[in-house]
Amino acid sequence: MNKGQLIELTRECVLCGRCKAKCPTYQLLCNESFGPRGRMHLAEALLKGDISASQRLKERLLSCTLCGACEKTCPKSARVPWVMASLRQDLKIDSFSRILAKWAFKHPRSAYNVSRILYYPLKKGLIKKAIIPADSPLFEYSPLEWGDVFTPPKATEPRGRIVLFSGCAVRFVFSYLAEALIRICTLSGYEVVLPKSEFCCGAPLLGMGLQRDAEKLAKKNIQYLGALKADMMVSLCPTCVHTMRNLYPDLTGKTIDIVDSTEALTRLINEVPLKEQKGTVVYHHPCHDLYGLNIKKEPIDLILKTGLTVTELPEGCCGFAGGFSLRFPELSQALLEERFKGMNKESITLATSCPGCIYQFMKTLPQGRVVHLVEVIEESLDEEGR
Ligand code: SF4
Ligand code: SF4
Repeated sequence: MNKGQLIELTRECVLCGRCKAKCPTYQLLCNESFGPRGRMHLAEALLKGDISASQRLKERLLSCTLCGACEKTCPKSARVPWVMASLRQDLKIDSFSRILAKWAFKHPRSAYNVSRILYYPLKKGLIKKAIIPADSPLFEYSPLEWGDVFTPPKATEPRGRIVLFSGCAVRFVFSYLAEALIRICTLSGYEVVLPKSEFCCGAPLLGMGLQRDAEKLAKKNIQYLGALKADMMVSLCPTCVHTMRNLYPDLTGKTIDIVDSTEALTRLINEVPLKEQKGTVVYHHPCHDLYGLNIKKEPIDLILKTGLTVTELPEGCCGFAGGFSLRFPELSQALLEERFKGMNKESITLATSCPGCIYQFMKTLPQGRVVHLVEVIEESLDEEGR
């Protein structure tokens, strides 16, 4: 998108201010320039050359979590997150991180291997810079234990075929989530296949202003995934699904027909036997489910089907938002703490549907008390009752 087109997009904002109540950074800082309306106004001025990209301005533009709450609330559907992500192309930011991210997301397997080797020095650096506290439960879960270990079983006479787009976080960190989903799909009679060629969806690169690199990954995914025959293509990461479904058209003119795991589970839940569970979970709606994919009721209905009761957290960002949590660790931590305001977090089990949110919540809740929705359903499977 060229400068003129971006200026046009900023003018979609009619300055009504309705979005402010939903913007996580505005709510936290109560500062107009950290909200959607202020950011759009600043973006227009920057694009027109009326102001320069000062450090203060960059903070305003880069601290947008790209959650999409504003666009969803906006009567004009003003594309604030797209404008914010697009602007980052020309902001001179984090050149080293950009080079690293370009390499890592183009070559995720090599990045995975290097992260295993560099785990201890990296951990030391994160603690030293106070990005993650030394006693964080996150460190209980080290990349030395990560692994892309799942292999779907071969099905005999399957009723259909499901393609699982794992996404980088599940492929290299939370592979047990893929195993859980594969188990549910298999039990409901489907064969699950993993694409031989899977590339990062491009969302992390978009967040860093590497739009052209994201476009290249999008084209590769469209080429390889588009050629696969399947009854359903599913991912466990709402950000991947939102990117492929809603942002690929901006990048390439094409989309990918893919559903989020919550949508897939809604289709499959009546095909699997469940046993009654007892207890309560607290559910956090991932931003890209809520605002990108319009998913709100589905996860709650799924949890209720297991017999568990569920308390929904009010809408709000967990503070992960990819590079945001590294660039703005204090804001990220404040958003995380905000999630548990007025609650005794010591006693809760939190469920959500996004690997990024899980990673963030594991900074404050121990592993085992932060679960993906797919684990809630897997735990309830009654294979003997089949
Ligand atoms: S982005 Fe939309 S909701 Fe927000 S101030 Fe502009 S027009 Fe109003
Ligand atoms: S995308 Fe989210 S963080 Fe960014 S301006 Fe909109 S509501 Fe605020």
